[in-house]
Amino acid sequence: MQPERYQRIRDVLEKRQTDLTVCLENVHKPHNVSAIVRTCDAVGIHRVHTVWEKKYQFRRGTAVGSQQWVRQTNHDTIGEAMAALKGQGMQVLVTHLSDTAVDFRDIDYTKPTAVLFGQEKYGATDEAKAMADHDIVIPMMGMVQSLNVSVAAALVLYEAQRQRTIAGMYNTQQLPEQECQALAFQNGYPRLFKLCQRKGLALPPINSHGEIAADDDWWQAMQITQAEANALESN
Ligand code: SAM
Repeated sequence: MQPERYQRIRDVLEKRQTDLTVCLENVHKPHNVSAIVRTCDAVGIHRVHTVWEKKYQFRRGTAVGSQQWVRQTNHDTIGEAMAALKGQGMQVLVTHLSDTAVDFRDIDYTKPTAVLFGQEKYGATDEAKAMADHDIVIPMMGMVQSLNVSVAAALVLYEAQRQRTIAGMYNTQQLPEQECQALAFQNGYPRLFKLCQRKGLALPPINSHGEIAADDDWWQAMQITQAEANALESN
């Protein structure tokens, strides 16, 4: 990997906000999911939670590669998702078009926060609403009752980004170093990453120039030399 590319990756990962996330409750249309993941990447969200019956994967397309940079955790039930998020000390906000919901701009997003978005047609489930800490709404002044879910996500997440920028929260690395290196290896050396996974090996460390700093045992287990690896990745 070129040092410039590694530096760019580091700059992005050092801004990741591990205590800001979204939970997609049955949001299932691929173009909506992809657009939300793209926004998550843009505001520095590291992990997205989903409540999907089947374990869908993030898709390419609208996400233009951002799905490779945003991790996903799927939960089988909304109860399981809520327990995980609250267990991490997050306030859970459910986006919900109700008269009692708080204007989304009146929330403090510098606190550890998870924002839950509901299914395209039916919105969030009653169970999710009952378990959330706050209902939030994006005020609507027109004839239509609601926004597209990916538009709603962008508005809320950019308010969170605005508040966190003012609070200086993008100036301190939150992502553990090992996770930074794992993402750098996965995306900077995609072919070696796949080979490494196929062989069931631990991911190698990356040095400050973005080079693989593995010991001889790792290279032997990979059955490839560093020179061959460089050639493989540059093709
Ligand atoms: N009839 C559904 C309802 O009453 O919730 C509408 C669902 S809306 C199209 C899909 C999702 O987009 C919602 O669950 C919410 O996450 C988000 N959303 C859309 N407009 C919103 C708004 N004005 N305020 C908050 N969330 C909104």
